[in-house]
Amino acid sequence: MVRVGVLALQGAFREHLSALDFLGAETRRVTRPEHLPGLDAIVLPGGESSAMVRLAAGTGLFPVLGRTIRAGLPTFGTCAGLILLADRLGDDSLDGYDRLGGLDVTVARNAYGRQRESFSAPVAITGLTGDFTATFIRAPRILDCGPGVEILARHDGHPVLVRAANVWGASFHPELGEDLRIHAEFLHHLGAAV
Ligand code: GLN
Repeated sequence: MVRVGVLALQGAFREHLSALDFLGAETRRVTRPEHLPGLDAIVLPGGESSAMVRLAAGTGLFPVLGRTIRAGLPTFGTCAGLILLADRLGDDSLDGYDRLGGLDVTVARNAYGRQRESFSAPVAITGLTGDFTATFIRAPRILDCGPGVEILARHDGHPVLVRAANVWGASFHPELGEDLRIHAEFLHHLGAAV
């Protein structure tokens, strides 16, 4: 059985834990560096990235996790999780805090509008048959991607699901709702890797 950690500082971590449990993974909440050894993968949920970086400060988690991701730990960041993984941010709002990095993209926080402008939209995803209904909540926009980044889905011309080597990022929330095909894809790739 694959062991998947979910960053559980803040945000929609319970929904990811249920999705991964349902799909048969062994799950573990991650809030400190000592929760990392033995994991086959980690998921970084949506929520509020500025709260996450504050809660992580002083735990030592992000420096260790960032190195572990760069060393190859399969990682899936969604929404705020994508913001943690982006190598570059479009503004300085999180300057001074440890993030993670590891995904060669530039991301603009809150570029899809405010909470009340949240929306769902069908997106076509490489490898999946039939559209996926993607929910965007104060979502980050992927402004550009480095050459090693594969774009698996776009909305309105902008990348919304990307993958580079071991690191996946989504600007929407794939854990909300009943459709767990993206989690299943991530676990499937993992099955091949571990
Ligand atoms: N706007 C949030 C942030 O900047 C992300 C929103 C989300 O994860 N749904 O962290």
